[in-house]
Amino acid sequence: MSLTDPRYSVLFEPVKIGPVTAPNRFYQVPHCNGMAHARPKSLAAMRGVKAEGGWGVVSTEEVEIHPSADLNPVIEGRLWSDDDIPYHAKTVEAIHEHGSLAAIQLAHNGMAAANLFTRIPPMAPSNMSVVWDFGDPVQARAMDKDDIRNLRQWYRDAARRAKIAGYDIVYMYAGHNMVTPMHFLSRRYNDRTDEYGGSVENRARLIGELLEDIKEEVGQTCGIAFRFAVDEMRGPEGITWDEEGRAVVEMYAELPDLWDVNVADWSNDSQTARFAPQEGYQTKYTKEVKKLTTKPVVGVGRFTSADGMVSQLKNGYLDMIGAARPSIADPFLPNKIRDNRIDEIRECIGCNICASGDNMSVPIRCTQNPTMGEEWRRGWHPEKIEKAENPDPVLVVGSGPAGMEAALQLSNRGHPVTLAEAGTELGGRVTRESRLPGLASYVRVRDYREHYLLTRPDVEIYFDSELSGDDILEFGFEHVIVATGSKWKRTGQGRDNRDVIPGLDTVKVVTPDDIMDGVEVTGRVVVYDLDYYYMASTLAEKLRAAGHEVAYVSDASTAASWTTYTLEQERVQSSLAENGVNLHLNNVISAVSADGVTLSNVYSEEEASLACDTLLLVTERAPQDEIYLDLKGRPGELKEAGIKTLELIGDAYAPGTIAASVYSGHKAARLFPNCQDDPDMFKWERPAAV
Ligand code: ADP
Ligand code: SF4
Repeated sequence: MSLTDPRYSVLFEPVKIGPVTAPNRFYQVPHCNGMAHARPKSLAAMRGVKAEGGWGVVSTEEVEIHPSADLNPVIEGRLWSDDDIPYHAKTVEAIHEHGSLAAIQLAHNGMAAANLFTRIPPMAPSNMSVVWDFGDPVQARAMDKDDIRNLRQWYRDAARRAKIAGYDIVYMYAGHNMVTPMHFLSRRYNDRTDEYGGSVENRARLIGELLEDIKEEVGQTCGIAFRFAVDEMRGPEGITWDEEGRAVVEMYAELPDLWDVNVADWSNDSQTARFAPQEGYQTKYTKEVKKLTTKPVVGVGRFTSADGMVSQLKNGYLDMIGAARPSIADPFLPNKIRDNRIDEIRECIGCNICASGDNMSVPIRCTQNPTMGEEWRRGWHPEKIEKAENPDPVLVVGSGPAGMEAALQLSNRGHPVTLAEAGTELGGRVTRESRLPGLASYVRVRDYREHYLLTRPDVEIYFDSELSGDDILEFGFEHVIVATGSKWKRTGQGRDNRDVIPGLDTVKVVTPDDIMDGVEVTGRVVVYDLDYYYMASTLAEKLRAAGHEVAYVSDASTAASWTTYTLEQERVQSSLAENGVNLHLNNVISAVSADGVTLSNVYSEEEASLACDTLLLVTERAPQDEIYLDLKGRPGELKEAGIKTLELIGDAYAPGTIAASVYSGHKAARLFPNCQDDPDMFKWERPAAV
């Protein structure tokens, strides 16, 4: 470990948070992970790795404090009774083992939960429908004074339990439009005529009471943090900085020991790089809070640059560098800055694949960090990998995210690696896609890996090397990993449409690969999206910006429908509309002719025709597995050539997300030499024995 660069030493100063002291200014703010109460061992191991990587404070996800607000099927933390304490103690222990502070985010979700598990009618400031993602036909009842008294007691009980579990910091949370104290503050949810409704002072009363209650309960030994969304970014109908945000900070400026400041909802707080390309996009608000309190302020903004972090501190915008996603992409980010290894930081690309895990109630995954969520169940560590017993040379064919990650990790295991790439640059799809509008940060997937691969003496890279099966037989490597990627199909097949669309030979048909290769597009363009992710909408906007009339067709009811899980869908659809892309949702393309494409509505027999000069098919991809299949079909020659193992990984094995390709490459290196042979799979957490 070398001495920290003096420019960054300010990041390693301790910070007092009430009665406790954080060892540095790196603060992992609460983040969901799809493990929480259902997978406590996985959770503890993941949080422990963050602490090991140098985050001075490591927080939980939101933790339900009472059965009257349960978020099932979404999996969050739970602290309903004393019986839950030991599960939390495990996480605390894992964090304390590395000298970090453990923080817990207490939450009563009120009418942001439908209580599908407990079946208790939800509660809200006023009688109203529940407001949560699944849109259940359920209403919340208005809380009376007894309910408010009970709620305050539940917060006290939870705080007491949190303290017993060993937490150092206890959060009161009023953010993301997710919790009762925030619902009380909201003009649109609070119709009350008592002392909890009307003026901002009244609507903020519950926030003050809860902060005081928690402080009284555990404030002697625990720091009290307040996570507060100062603006909902929805104009005058929402909570605004001018109306409520500033007033609440002024009212309670010195009451909590720390302000964790953000904006709501989650899609505004965790904006993707596609819509918020720059770091520090919430600074506008945090710097205003800083002016109003002497207590430390933490805030997020996808901070991955050490210089950027220092300037946040020096400019007086923040006291602690908050991070969820940067800590997911690189749990060792603080230690890398401390040890002058900035080039080794695995920078978050801002894709929100991590959020998709939580939104689908499965363990968190990350595009950049394939070990995220695998710390306990596979025993993977983001910075360590077992040395190989037999470090045989390996040929990796294809340098996309799968090939690069496999090559890097095999090299880390001690294998000499030869990487053959048909093109003239590394990165495969990430390099190509990063040139599309809004996706520039995707190149970080390449850059992180390239940094090592280009400098390793035991890694040889050959460009312009499109290998055939015969070439590979000739080389005589004992081990070959094929990572040759995928190509978009030209047939229109995708999802439920298994037939080739009739008439495709009558118009100009292009695929995303063609556009990325610079193939010319003419006239009116129809983009057909059966992929549902970012590609179709990104290209639609690119072609629109180039002056084409563009129609977007999908059988889904919303544009880029899967981006709901990455918190982008509304932005994607608004952006298409704002840019003048015509949307034709709930339609399939049933036929194509020189006159245009025929749309068939998926809910009716209705047909319509759409003029089209160029049809862009973003429907499905075909694995590029020819050389693998060729070699696989020649077992005698493989043996003769001395090839002992031949493996297929990444998109060439099964096309998927970039995250899936990186994961596939990583897994291949961990399991090498039998990259798909995973007999034990992984451990999974079972309910306690009956
Ligand atoms: P993945 O996501 O699985 O990594 P990509 O499509 O991003 O897949 O990358 C595949 C890479 O493999 C591309 O850079 C492509 O140029 C390269 N490639 C494809 N076929 C060959 C081949 N026969 N020989 C060498 N490289 C190849
Ligand atoms: Fe960042 Fe994407 Fe990883 Fe989330 S999944 S931490 S956004 S790189």
